[in-house]
Amino acid sequence: MTTDPTTTARPAFPGGTILGYPRIGRRRELKKAVESFWAGRTDAVDLEIAAGTLRRDTVRRLVALGLDPDDGSVPGSFSYYDQVLDVVATLGAVPARFRDLIDPDDGSLEPEGYFTVARGRGEDAPLEMTKWFDTNYHYLVPEISESTPISFADHRVVREYAEAKEAGVTTRPVLVGPVTFLALSKAADDAGEGFHPLDRLDDVVAAYADLLRALAAVGAPWVQLDEPALVTDSLDVPADRLHAAVNAAYRTLASGLAAATDDEAGERPAILVAAPFGGLEPDGLALLAATDVEAIAVDLVKGSVPATGPVPGLATKTLVAGVVDGHNVWRSDLTARLDVVDALRPLGAGAVAVGTSTSLLHVPHDVDDEVFADAAPGRTGGTTLDPRLREWLAFADQKVGEVTVLARAVTQGRDAVAAELTASSQAVASRVTAAGVVVPAVRERAAALTDADFARGPYAERAAAQAARLGLPPLPTTTIGSFPQTPEIRRARAAWTRGELADADYTAAMRAEIDRVVELQTALGLDVLVHGEPERNDMVQYFAEHLDGFAVTANGWVQSYGSRCVRPPILWGDVQRPAPITVEWSAYTASRTDKPVKGMLTGPVTILAWSFVRDDQPLGDTANQVGLALRDEIADLEAAGIAVVQVDEPALRELLPLRRADQDEYLRWSVGSFRLATSGVDAATQVHTHLCYSEFGEVIGAIDGLDADVTSVEAARSRMEVVPELRDAGYSRGIGPGVYDIHSPRVPSAAEVTELLQLAVKSIDPALVWVNPDCGLKTRRYAEIEPALTHLVAAAREVRATL
Ligand code: GLN
Ligand code: ZN
Repeated sequence: MTTDPTTTARPAFPGGTILGYPRIGRRRELKKAVESFWAGRTDAVDLEIAAGTLRRDTVRRLVALGLDPDDGSVPGSFSYYDQVLDVVATLGAVPARFRDLIDPDDGSLEPEGYFTVARGRGEDAPLEMTKWFDTNYHYLVPEISESTPISFADHRVVREYAEAKEAGVTTRPVLVGPVTFLALSKAADDAGEGFHPLDRLDDVVAAYADLLRALAAVGAPWVQLDEPALVTDSLDVPADRLHAAVNAAYRTLASGLAAATDDEAGERPAILVAAPFGGLEPDGLALLAATDVEAIAVDLVKGSVPATGPVPGLATKTLVAGVVDGHNVWRSDLTARLDVVDALRPLGAGAVAVGTSTSLLHVPHDVDDEVFADAAPGRTGGTTLDPRLREWLAFADQKVGEVTVLARAVTQGRDAVAAELTASSQAVASRVTAAGVVVPAVRERAAALTDADFARGPYAERAAAQAARLGLPPLPTTTIGSFPQTPEIRRARAAWTRGELADADYTAAMRAEIDRVVELQTALGLDVLVHGEPERNDMVQYFAEHLDGFAVTANGWVQSYGSRCVRPPILWGDVQRPAPITVEWSAYTASRTDKPVKGMLTGPVTILAWSFVRDDQPLGDTANQVGLALRDEIADLEAAGIAVVQVDEPALRELLPLRRADQDEYLRWSVGSFRLATSGVDAATQVHTHLCYSEFGEVIGAIDGLDADVTSVEAARSRMEVVPELRDAGYSRGIGPGVYDIHSPRVPSAAEVTELLQLAVKSIDPALVWVNPDCGLKTRRYAEIEPALTHLVAAAREVRATL
């Protein structure tokens, strides 16, 4: 391990940097290494070798792309699983049930223990997982109490700094900051009444201080502490408490530890505090500027800084202007971005550097990993991108390039990068005029919409018409849509995608699967049947592949949580439906049964939330375009005789803005786009929606606003709590609280399901209650769902008899 103390001079901040880089690997090397370790095919040494190779390749690549190898421009942002879990490990702050996993000799938790905290063991539940700010990344929620051990326990951060240094690159270690770490933690079960994790701030800060000392001792010139808690007001911590915590934490870390001077090595590296995912309004910048940290990174893509005059304290600091979007895939107009950097001048920062708005964790690695072809994209799952898109896109590596160009412009003047500025403006301009980006017919249709297009008739009339048409028993039973995706289904789809299976054979294979699923549902005695979604790879990608205006990537993987990655489609142009998408599958299903069949679609908000969206128009306009395409699909389903249509919106809450002041506007357009999709139907057609969660928080009022005839939600784990909550929020249409927790392989007994159902009918008019699982069944096995659904139907019959 290198320990030469090179921090003898106060370091200048890099001219250009990124706040973090994807860590899963260009070919998901980390995923593969971690999963083979979990499966026992490799051991901890193999894992460490694979991860070390990936880390070294990454820092060298960042240097090759133009970041400075010597000044801390290159972030050290690796993680085996999650950056919040990394802090838990660093502090040894694991819940009591996992404390035996800590190595008694050195306080470390890796690697088995680390993954066990993330994934659970036997009866010991893992840490909960939840969304990281407004991204689709999920972090693990630390559990903290008065008695949680907190110290600088695991030194992996220091080892990784030394490892990169040995590979010739001086990195800037990146950690979630102490305030955000605690603000995102929850009180552990053993915490006393009224305890908040922030009560442990002093202990956490003391541990960070030790960590900073250790980093200084190995010569790290910079460290980055991410404090995105400062950009949101929707955490359960009041702003004044958060601000007091920031003051206290950085007084200790920045003022309390000596920074390097020109003559002397410091006790700590210079500190960059980063505030990604939004603006630091109203006074977060002033707050940070008043501390003794050396640099502050602000998000100038989602946020802005009103440059009204000098900010006290900023004159001694570097302001890192986050002008390159770390959270979306579009190439920047570099000239426009430079104008944003220049506009910061009145703030009076000591220096201005250029950065990304967020870590690049949220975008794929490299546009050049995609196959571009002049031919039209192939069949489902095809791997070619329209060649025009290459010019318009910037994934992580391209964004590093943008940062370095902008940094040169800032330090050497715009003329030094005139060619790059022109090229970027041309690329952005070509996007504006390209065919498909603006489709007049789509625009005209959207412009002609009136309020009537967003509204159905009165619910009472609809309910009566639907009851007459469907003839369902009380407590009707159904499922959420998907049935298990068997290896045979996946094989058939893969073969078809490769062109090895003819269209007709593929269709036959999927129809055979539908037959099987219909037979099973009939045998089980379910009331409203589904086709099982065998033809869908993913509930968003499937629709993206069938709508104009979207592209899908071959290697555009983005970490969702742990080793899980997703490939979000890219929504680049006006959205149109060239042909019906699901109608043949649903109509075929309906031809195989006399029971009602439920058509299955993904809603506009979810399609947007799980895609990269265009940045050249308001999201609400894009949502309405998707809404109109779905409206046409629903009209075709209706014309094909389908009486029930479900439009899934599991991501409705995900796009909720971080600032409360922005939330009403979001709910207006998101709910509006759902209503636009679903309100074209006859009163006798029943519209369902499905939301994957049970804690609605701020969106609870919006659930009613969707105006669906039936809403199914997750409810089994929380024992139906959501039913009275929805009732109290004024919801009074059909409700399907999940009575079978599909997230676990466990099969609930009929008695358990009956008990849950009894809870539900006690809290709301039983005439409104539907009986269904928590979510789709695609991740489960038939051996699990057959008995579970048998019990579900039995429970429905039993409770029905008591009504
Ligand atoms: N209809 C989808 C399914 O059953 C819904 C999935 C979801 O809610 N995430 O798989
Ligand atoms: Zn769900």
